[in-house]
Amino acid sequence: MDKVLVSACLVGRPVRYDGRAKPVGDALLDRWRLEGRLVVHCPEVAGGLPVPRPPAEIEPGATAADVLAGRARILTPGGDDVTAPFVAGARAALAFARDRGVTVAVLKESSPSCGLHEVYDGTFTGRKLAGSGVTAHLLSGHGIAVFNEHGIAAADARLRGADGGRAQERTTS
Ligand code: SF4
Repeated sequence: MDKVLVSACLVGRPVRYDGRAKPVGDALLDRWRLEGRLVVHCPEVAGGLPVPRPPAEIEPGATAADVLAGRARILTPGGDDVTAPFVAGARAALAFARDRGVTVAVLKESSPSCGLHEVYDGTFTGRKLAGSGVTAHLLSGHGIAVFNEHGIAAADARLRGADGGRAQERTTS
């Protein structure tokens, strides 16, 4: 059975930079939990960052791909370079996902780790631009179907389709 990795803050774990959670309270998460599909993970904590911690953004003009390739940094408002734990966290998330048979992920939008369609622009002014966080980029680049918290129903459809496809393969082979 396919597993789904969900950002820990979305299921109520207080692991965000500000020490809070961002629970979505969707019944599908409860269903996934009951089915034994749900696996919960926070890349930034896995990468060794504390809770709470300073906010961090990918530096202006750079992308998650640049960060993962060692061409750009992730910085705090004070200029501290926190690239290493963010990259370690992304790699830990991929290893965690592979180990547990994850094929689908639901990640928290706009995070420098978990953001899927947008991230903050690196100026700490609240402006966002199109782009993804380092974990979302790494997972999607390794065959995991990534959705954000607004795409939970689509993630569920993807899971059902994956299971159904394999069941059909088994009955026709
Ligand atoms: Fe949530 Fe992801 Fe940030 Fe962890 S790294 S607090 S799971 S958005």
